[in-house]
Amino acid sequence: MGRRTRKMAHWLTGIAAGLFLTQILYSQGIYGAETENMVCLDISEGSIYITDTGYRIGEGGEETSFDGIYKISGNTREDYEIHVLEGEHVVIMDHMSIDQRTLEDGCPLTVAGDSVLNLYLQGDNSLFAGAGNSAIELGEDARLDIEGFGQGIFTLMAYPANMGGELEGTSAINIPEDAAVTYPSSPETGDVVNMYTGNNRLSPEKVTAYKAEPYLQIRYSISHHCTRFSPEADCTRAQYCLECGREVAPKTAHVLGTQATCTEAARCANCGCIMGEPLGHKGVWKLEKELYGGLVRQESMVCTVCHETLYRTVNAEE
Ligand SMILES: [Zn+2]
Ligand SMILES: [Zn+2]
Ligand SMILES: [Zn+2]
Repeated sequence: MGRRTRKMAHWLTGIAAGLFLTQILYSQGIYGAETENMVCLDISEGSIYITDTGYRIGEGGEETSFDGIYKISGNTREDYEIHVLEGEHVVIMDHMSIDQRTLEDGCPLTVAGDSVLNLYLQGDNSLFAGAGNSAIELGEDARLDIEGFGQGIFTLMAYPANMGGELEGTSAINIPEDAAVTYPSSPETGDVVNMYTGNNRLSPEKVTAYKAEPYLQIRYSISHHCTRFSPEADCTRAQYCLECGREVAPKTAHVLGTQATCTEAARCANCGCIMGEPLGHKGVWKLEKELYGGLVRQESMVCTVCHETLYRTVNAEE
């Protein structure tokens, strides 16, 4: 190995070590590379359909590409529902309620097929089914993992009703044989999780034993400190805790990038959005020609700012 090659090799080792270090920093989330995005949706705006590649609002809505955590808030008494159609997702329910008790049908939350839903609860949330439905319906191989952050009450109510000769909607969560649900637990001292079913039984184990319970309430008080965050706030998004969904930093103001001109508005240097209005040309209109015996005037102006020559035709009386 010549001197030069050795030097090069040394240099490359240095780069490799640097890359390795960067890799570690990334994987520890120091550069925020590990962090996930969050989208905030409102159930009062329509049904929410979550797929492998994004989400849509309303059954016929156009899909918005998204990969990250969903935070859903708002209240509805319409037939608006949440459908997890495929894939594995985290949904934070933030003080949200779906009440379909006045409807002839309707299941507030469906986790279809073999989808996996990690449901994080923030504050009080409730899901009340329409006639003949469970509050939560799981697909054949679906998994639902419910976790509480801070203090709150999660209330689920099925609506038992005779549908075509059979009593349906008898359990708060309909769990097929191969599907699974895990409930909030209290790992830390001082944390409390109480589960009440239709007969006010206090034991979490019995919730699954008494499957045909239309009512389920989970009251929890689980200590939580926000430690996992979405990317830093900028002019397009606030920053959130990825577990409880709390906003930890608001959106920032837009940053003036390109200045406004006569015809173009100023734009934000970061997101490119329009800021304010174009300035408009400046100058004095001069008469070029009078037509129809002075009834119509043709005028021109050279803009004193951009030097463009402009023409217009005006009625003389204006
Ligand atoms: Zn938090
Ligand atoms: Zn901006
Ligand atoms: Zn101009």
